[in-house]
Amino acid sequence: MKLIMLGPPGAGKGTLAAKSVNILNVPHISTGTIFRTAMSSNSPLGLKVKAIVESGRLVDDQTTIELVRERLAQEDAQKGYILDGFPRTIPQAEALAGFSAVGKVVNISISDSDILERLGGRRVCRKCGHNFHVVYDKPAREGICDHCDGEVYTRDDDKDEAIQKRLEVYRAQTAPLIQFYREKGILVDMNAMIKFEDTMENFKNALAPRRV
Ligand code: AMP
Repeated sequence: MKLIMLGPPGAGKGTLAAKSVNILNVPHISTGTIFRTAMSSNSPLGLKVKAIVESGRLVDDQTTIELVRERLAQEDAQKGYILDGFPRTIPQAEALAGFSAVGKVVNISISDSDILERLGGRRVCRKCGHNFHVVYDKPAREGICDHCDGEVYTRDDDKDEAIQKRLEVYRAQTAPLIQFYREKGILVDMNAMIKFEDTMENFKNALAPRRV
């Protein structure tokens, strides 16, 4: 399955994608995680995008498209993928259509108050990218990832000012993708709930073949 997870920051795209990898048996490709990993290792890409990512703005289309084109050309993505955080602009979606045939787009809706609660409490593993939450999904040992012992931290772009910027950017640049994919007949809507089990159920329903 070639699947795109669409939705505002904090909708739970990454968490749903990570939980679905074993069900769908395709890789979870998160552009945000790729950028954060590059930033942690101070690679040329990381240094180039650091200030942009930390402020909540978008990395330029050309850099992002090239990164995804190369990632999708790898062996493990030939049978499918779950794209999380890409595309985020119409030019990215148009470029993607030129090198891969997307099968389904799941559009996740969530209220603004739930977004703020999710992002304000989110913590992330610096090493493997796993998401935690200070109330709903705490790591067993404070500040240490349950999966890889990496450091669990607060993303710079999960701080108040950057959250507002990311919501603005989402509304202006990413939300138009809902119509773009609806017109192509491959978009499925689902609601995200603050209780993760309910969201997972909605997600499984959205993936059911009869919905498209
Ligand atoms: P995410 O983890 O998906 O919330 O992404 C974190 C940050 O990485 C975003 O706020 C952007 O700065 C950058 N980013 C991730 N994906 C993209 C993309 N498709 N286009 C441009 N910037 C992106």
